[in-house]
Amino acid sequence: MLTLNDVLRARRLLDAHLPATPSWSYPLLDEAAGRSVVVKHENAQPTGAFKVRGALNLLSGLDRQPVVTYSTGNHARSVAYAARTFGLPAHIVMPAGAAEFKVRAVRALGATVTLHGRDMSEAEAFAATLDGRLISPGDEPAVIAGVGTAYLELFERHPDLDTVVVPVGSGTGAAAACLVAAAVAPGCRVIGVQSTAAPAAHDSWRAGACVRRDNRTRVDGLATGRGFDLPQSMLRDRLADFVLVDDDAIDAARGVLARAAHTQAEGAGAAALAAVLARPDLMGSAVAVILTGGNAELAGPHG
Ligand SMILES: *Cc1c(COP(=O)(O)O)cnc(C)c1O
Repeated sequence: MLTLNDVLRARRLLDAHLPATPSWSYPLLDEAAGRSVVVKHENAQPTGAFKVRGALNLLSGLDRQPVVTYSTGNHARSVAYAARTFGLPAHIVMPAGAAEFKVRAVRALGATVTLHGRDMSEAEAFAATLDGRLISPGDEPAVIAGVGTAYLELFERHPDLDTVVVPVGSGTGAAAACLVAAAVAPGCRVIGVQSTAAPAAHDSWRAGACVRRDNRTRVDGLATGRGFDLPQSMLRDRLADFVLVDDDAIDAARGVLARAAHTQAEGAGAAALAAVLARPDLMGSAVAVILTGGNAELAGPHG
């Protein structure tokens, strides 16, 4: 069972590697949302997404062990970054159709990239045959503890939040938010968001058991075909609500962030704002959205 102490320990480790990310609000964004909206800028991380917190915390505890994982996007980039930080060899498997700019970003961090399989489950199966510590994108306590440091920073700077909205793929971010909120901001509700085109985590939470679902979203960070046990077990009693938004609404929210907050979000990074705009009835008056990542190829319509 993870506790706040695990997150506090992670923060002591991460202090040597990452500064706190900014979190503030923008008048035009507040106006668009009809309430106060704090943006937590995880797109300002060196890898462009929050996942680096979890990867650094996990890999700091591995002793000279090679690491292996599968991902097209930010998980791969964060594992590669942490492996470089601690001098561990990293081998990342990506499906053969992975976007060239994502392959390049991971290779630039010194990781070995193998392109294999038609989709993520084929890449996962191949990764499981490789030598090294296989890192799950969801079921890793040290990843959730590391990710929790974002929420410590948020609640320390903004103790009066009544709602925090978190984009969900595997669920590590939302699970960490629930853990930290329960300990340091018990009056704050945590709301998860996923795409209507990939609702596996949402449906798992509603069902109270991990389920598989079609994964047709074009929003990378939210694209998962199944629920993950550890984050789901932490969300079960603590998540206040779970919202689905469609991919077009997420694209529109990217535009709002570009115009009102002069910031680039990838699709998953804009999903929390999309939920605030789509479901104002669920939101309080002091809301935080986690801008989880900014890794889009161009500031175009899709990310
Ligand atoms: C991975 C990711 C998410 C989802 O996070 P989980 O911890 O997998 O639920 C959201 N946004 C971005 C940008 C991501 O990279």
